[in-house]
Amino acid sequence: MDIYEGLKNIFGYDEFKKGQRLLIEETLKGRDVLGVMPTGGGKSLCYQLPAVLMKGITIVISPLISLMKDQVDSLVDVGIPATFINSTLSHKEFATRLQSIKANRYKILYIAPERLNTFSFLNLAKKLPISMVAVDEAHCISQWGHDFRPSYLEIPKFINSLDKRPIVSAYTATATREIVEEIRTLLGLKDPLISITGFDRPNLFYQVVKPRDKFEYLMDYLKNNFQEDSGIIYCATRKTVESLTKKLIERGMSAVGYHGGMDSNIRQKNQDDFIYDRVRLIVATNAFGLGIDKPDIRFVIHYNMPKNMEAYYQEAGRAGRDGEPSDCILLYSPGDIVKQKYLIQSSTFSKERETMLYRNLQYLVDYCNTNQCLRNSILSYFGEEIEVESCNNCGNCLSQSEMVDITIEAQKILSCIYRVRERYGVTMISQILRGSKSKRILDLGLNNLSTYGIMKEYTESSLKEIIMALVAMDYIHMTADKYPVLKLTPASLPVLKGEVRVFHKKELLEAGKTMRKKALSLEYIDENYDQKLFQELRELRLKLAQEKGVAPFIIFHDSTLKQMATYFPMNREEFLKLKGIGLKKYENYGEYFTNKIKDYVDRNGIDTSNIKRIEAEKPIRERTEDRYILTYNYYLEGLSLEEIAKKRNFTVETIIRHLEKCEERGKTVDWSRFIDDPTKEERVLKAIDEMGLERLRPIKEILPEEISYEDIRIIILKNGLKKM
Ligand code: ADP
Repeated sequence: MDIYEGLKNIFGYDEFKKGQRLLIEETLKGRDVLGVMPTGGGKSLCYQLPAVLMKGITIVISPLISLMKDQVDSLVDVGIPATFINSTLSHKEFATRLQSIKANRYKILYIAPERLNTFSFLNLAKKLPISMVAVDEAHCISQWGHDFRPSYLEIPKFINSLDKRPIVSAYTATATREIVEEIRTLLGLKDPLISITGFDRPNLFYQVVKPRDKFEYLMDYLKNNFQEDSGIIYCATRKTVESLTKKLIERGMSAVGYHGGMDSNIRQKNQDDFIYDRVRLIVATNAFGLGIDKPDIRFVIHYNMPKNMEAYYQEAGRAGRDGEPSDCILLYSPGDIVKQKYLIQSSTFSKERETMLYRNLQYLVDYCNTNQCLRNSILSYFGEEIEVESCNNCGNCLSQSEMVDITIEAQKILSCIYRVRERYGVTMISQILRGSKSKRILDLGLNNLSTYGIMKEYTESSLKEIIMALVAMDYIHMTADKYPVLKLTPASLPVLKGEVRVFHKKELLEAGKTMRKKALSLEYIDENYDQKLFQELRELRLKLAQEKGVAPFIIFHDSTLKQMATYFPMNREEFLKLKGIGLKKYENYGEYFTNKIKDYVDRNGIDTSNIKRIEAEKPIRERTEDRYILTYNYYLEGLSLEEIAKKRNFTVETIIRHLEKCEERGKTVDWSRFIDDPTKEERVLKAIDEMGLERLRPIKEILPEEISYEDIRIIILKNGLKKM
């Protein structure tokens, strides 16, 4: 089996994530590797796939006892024989497990670092064909990191005690350059491939909010966002955890608390309830988190400010491990700074350390007050080169420009109201525009309207928001009854005719989740899945998970269920095309789910000929290629960069990159077409002479404001100075 076959057949994926392929290939060549990837970057697969492909057994050293069971459950569920050894096992269990390990029954063994050098394990290890030792959370070896585990320092001793040195691979998400170096030396890695994928988490939406009333803001958020999904609410103190949990429950929210002062049984139960989807919210101090691997946390809200940027990155980073869009919202009130300062003052740190703590705190305070891109602010904290001025996926980037033209949107909405002869309210209109497959819509034949599905890319809430704005602006009249109906007004006609343009605050418009995703220029699955089927599939998943005693996400991620509710796979072949479904997964669950889908289709009389077919997945190389070509075709039509960006739904920066790729592949790109003012070129070239080409920021900084990063990039490309 080659690595692509393994990826598809076992894990059900067609493509590697950034950094994975090289790390895996080098491992398979027998080389030590050190992978630094952000949370959710897919570190586990980097050692799990080679572990299966190599002869012998892989030992995974992991500090997180609470995670071992989930990890092993996941592996067994995709058909990889795996087990763990840690202090949760009884003596008897431990002995039987050693026996089956000795009998070579496993490909992967998870072990806590404290167990490595015990007499019984050392004895066993000498007899095992160990192909690799994989060190997870490798930063635990550093005394400078925040998760130092003395027993990590004992790992080299274990490796050295083996007759034949296995491959050693190390993985971490948190690493400053110094820590990377430390991992390399302390673990004794030999000529390792060091792969650092960066810290960006593109699926996370960052925002700082300064609400008048935090609690009411929170309630509002919880009612309107990710209603069916899990989230963490972090508080600074145990007391706040207690009181906030109580208030949320009183207001009908499904929530539990978690902090270090709780009875440990209750704390464990609360954590399990959260992980196993029995409650929606966990309200916690920073004691909660390390060792939480729940992939489908959709939002992390900081009710109070954390102590510094590193802590914030860690805590907020627990959202969206599965790569789906998720929110990281920090509720800011100046009072929190006072609280954090007090915490620093009242502890007994050295003067030097105290200064450092204040400095770190200040960085976070700046983060809360900046008007610049929040993502960039985080990334530059970690020393990453910032090349793109705005990420288009944080509260600041999305609220920068004041008003946007929504004439087209308004025209679509108004003509929809006209087509249905002014008979329906906000919900129906937005369902029609979004192309909903709800029974009512289909029964009424509204799917035959010419306006059906023409605003698919909007979420329900953002579309409703636009409609409500049009009502407020009197382009739509909303009747004042129990079931209000939308009607046109005298002001509607000029809009429909294109005589009047309509503007709207961008902030409002872009609050919708779909907008966020569009801004990301990532490929997400269609949001327009069948919600009811999705719920039924979730229930089925929960039932199966309970029967097996595993967390629901071990069986399938939400994203996989959404694909099912989009494509309605009803046989093996179709099912296996979904992302994240390997052969064993089909064997274990395929029939339950295909049967459920068939049943749903029958029960609801759904005409399956209308359902979207899954395109056979093409390898990424081709697909990316197609992307560039689409962009290039617009270029050939003579459109400006902004126009292409709009058509392609990407940022201008991305369009420049696409064109650059086309050029690398032999197509001609006349960059001068994009330079509006020839004096700019001179000025930029002079600045480059002065500052060098290492980094763009210094160049940008010595140039006048009006010269943008895009200008600089285009001029560099035009002059063939450097491939970026
Ligand atoms: P990390 O340990 O780096 O935080 P994980 O190993 O838990 O990340 O992986 C994060 C998520 O990404 C998991 O849900 C995993 O199934 C998924 N994943 C890993 N590799 C791929 C891939 N090549 N394609 C798609 N999803 C992947």
